[in-house]
Amino acid sequence: MIYFDNNATTKFSLRVQEYLRKGFIDNWGNASSEHLFGQTTKDIIEGDREYIANFLNVLKKNILFTSGATESINSILNPIFCSENKITSVISSKLEHQSTLSAIDRLKKHGVKILWVKNDENGVIDLKNLESLAKQFPQSLASFLYVNNETGVIQDVKTITRICKEFGCLVHLDSVQALGKYNFDLLKLGVDFASFSAHKIGGLKGVGLLYIKNPDNFVPFILGGGQEQGLRAGTYNINGIRSFRFALEDSKKWNLDSITNLRNKFEEEVLKLNDKIKINCQNANRICNTSNIYFPNLPNQAVALDLSRNNICVSTGSACSSGTTDPSYVIQGLGQTKNYASSCIRFSFAYFNIHNEVNRTIEALKQII
Ligand code: PLP
Repeated sequence: MIYFDNNATTKFSLRVQEYLRKGFIDNWGNASSEHLFGQTTKDIIEGDREYIANFLNVLKKNILFTSGATESINSILNPIFCSENKITSVISSKLEHQSTLSAIDRLKKHGVKILWVKNDENGVIDLKNLESLAKQFPQSLASFLYVNNETGVIQDVKTITRICKEFGCLVHLDSVQALGKYNFDLLKLGVDFASFSAHKIGGLKGVGLLYIKNPDNFVPFILGGGQEQGLRAGTYNINGIRSFRFALEDSKKWNLDSITNLRNKFEEEVLKLNDKIKINCQNANRICNTSNIYFPNLPNQAVALDLSRNNICVSTGSACSSGTTDPSYVIQGLGQTKNYASSCIRFSFAYFNIHNEVNRTIEALKQII
């Protein structure tokens, strides 16, 4: 199998595989139990929290483990969070991940004013427009993607945060697709909240985290026991948390230059197939592993299926939106037509992909198109 769908999920990292084989059976204690066995589990979790906090250059107390980025995002873009923090307006972009858009949709039903910031043809946020919205609606909650999951376009988060802070807005950053693939210092970015997911970097599914700069601002989304300093109830997912830490450790070994070279080689070769083929957002600042390609007049679902028959896994958009037949709203949000969007395919690479896989995919595409 050739797996070029790493933005949907990626292979368990080596240390995670090792842990699944050995550690999964032993670590079954409840970290909230008072006995020594429970406390050993708690110590392991706290060690992992510390490792992850150091990785992100933040403090341990600012890291809250969740069931994934979807939960993290829903904890912030949440009617209760907004009402308790007296937030009456949200600024975001129409190119966000579905979890953000759905949460925003609910906020709207609860009377929160939604302000959509404009973007250019690459999906880059219009900073002037952001400034004018933040000025008109100070103390809003702003939520943006760091890296777009479909196009790989990276936002200028430092400037976005500076503008938002100037007008007293809180900033949430969906950092899922940046983790491991892009060097950043969460503290220096200055955001108030950030969401992450383990399975995008080689950890288990069903575990993520929420960074909270000021835990006093946070309103628990899930109530129950006193886990996570009372901020997120539910028995600790020790295996998920362990996998997150191990995957992060392994991600330090990723050679981002070689992923970039592989992606660039793929794009160079794909452009030779037909002179009408286009690389979406080609000239924007993009993450190293993502390529979104327009194949003129070819239905993307048919191409993806043909590639799948050749044991090549790609995607026609976000995995979370699959099942819908609608062409990608992200590509349409770049100013493209529905028709254009229905001919676009995302190829997302990882450290384990090799040049021979690119060559085989190009050969398969030659047959298909
Ligand atoms: N945000 C982005 C940018 C994503 O790519 C994803 C995963 O599809 C999510 C949020 C949701 O993450 P999770 O699968 O951990 O709920």
